[in-house]
Amino acid sequence: MNKSKITMEQLVSYAKRRGFVFQASEIYGGVAGMYDFGPYGVELKNNIKKLWWQEMVYINDNISGIDSAIIQSPKVWEASGHVERFSDPMVDCKSCKKRFRADKLANVDSVDIPELTKLVNKFDCPNCGGHDWTDIRQFNLLMKTFLGPLEDDNAVAYLRGETCQGIYTNFDNVRETTRAKLPFGVAQIGKAFRNEITPGDFLFRQREFEQAEMQMFVDPESADKIFSQWKERRMKWHETILDKGNLRFREHGENERAHYAKDAWDIEYNFPFGFKEMEGIHNRGDWDLSRHSKFSGKELEYFDEESKKRFTPWVIETSVGMDRLFLAVLADSYTEEQVGEETRVVMKFKPSLAPVKVAVLPLSKKPELSKLSREVFEIISGDINVEYDETQSIGKRYRRQDEIGTPLCVTVDFDSLEDNAVTVRDRDTMKQERIKIAELKSYVQSKLN
Ligand code: ATP
Repeated sequence: MNKSKITMEQLVSYAKRRGFVFQASEIYGGVAGMYDFGPYGVELKNNIKKLWWQEMVYINDNISGIDSAIIQSPKVWEASGHVERFSDPMVDCKSCKKRFRADKLANVDSVDIPELTKLVNKFDCPNCGGHDWTDIRQFNLLMKTFLGPLEDDNAVAYLRGETCQGIYTNFDNVRETTRAKLPFGVAQIGKAFRNEITPGDFLFRQREFEQAEMQMFVDPESADKIFSQWKERRMKWHETILDKGNLRFREHGENERAHYAKDAWDIEYNFPFGFKEMEGIHNRGDWDLSRHSKFSGKELEYFDEESKKRFTPWVIETSVGMDRLFLAVLADSYTEEQVGEETRVVMKFKPSLAPVKVAVLPLSKKPELSKLSREVFEIISGDINVEYDETQSIGKRYRRQDEIGTPLCVTVDFDSLEDNAVTVRDRDTMKQERIKIAELKSYVQSKLN
């Protein structure tokens, strides 16, 4: 078996050709930093989200989920520090007018302007080769909109730049309604928006993307311990989905940490363009609750019955970009195999992630085969995504299902009409087994588990 590393061009073209990801508004020439997920893409993404939700909300009795509004009071973003400080350093080439993110241009993780200025001046413009840079300025990434009929300063609101703020503002609501005791967590999956200066690398840096964030509220004294537990746990979780060799930790340096972070680590994935951040794990101290308490005037403290202590909980955060994880899963699953003369492309998705779990393929379009195949489809579909396909030769249909990573193909042939059995082909081994239709549902379930 030859597990090839896919290039970015191959990946983008694969994702489009096989109905995973399309450029948003493609018929109008597209919008930079925006993508639409197609029929297989939405399935894969939903499956990834489901695994994350199970890992957070279902297996931990002290984590519950919420779904907060994308637009919150503008005060939320003042309290969080985003209005003042949620910015990236940008620099323009004076010759060709192209704009860059200074830290990305200099290929460093620093946000220190004097340091970046020195570094950027060592580089020529990657677009025109010129060497005439503007000063580095901070560019705020929050996307603005207006609420109500008047488009004035009083009506300004922001699309959320991260999902976690809706968790902090609901700290007391969740604590009261679930009667939670520290440490307890709140998880959320949802869209976030950032007016990125240079969106790019396909799904990696978009202006609209999806985050899965979990905020664990803790006693400050146990913060370090809980932080390291989650750090390890998150890595273990990624290792259940992705190749271990493509994952690594990276600790944030002093100059790079967000204003609130006491400790910050990334889990990086080896994307086709190299190791880059996929998830952030942060110890945010008491920044979030104390700031929201100050700006809202509502006390956001916790009273510990046992120790009789009253304090502002600290926050341990795990924050993963669903689109970056989606990209990693695609890159990781892409496999090319030599079968005789032919190269077989197979997406080796875990069955739980595969967009289509089973394909039902009548050997020919003869009405009696179609009829029985439809019955087989009815038997196994419903709670899993099953595809029915009777076009083209059976070989071509197998290849197509391999390319979208369908774990099982069920072929209905003329013998099926006599023996009430079908042939089930395994994506990875290509082995075929004859299974009675009456036992097919439980066979499929056990194979997929
Ligand atoms: P970067 O340094 O790459 O800009 P970040 O450190 O600003 O990322 P966080 O604010 O920690 O990112 O956001 C948490 C997660 O959200 C990231 O680990 C990433 O997976 C995802 N994410 C952030 N920005 C984007 C984006 N523009 N497009 C897609 N995913 C993103």
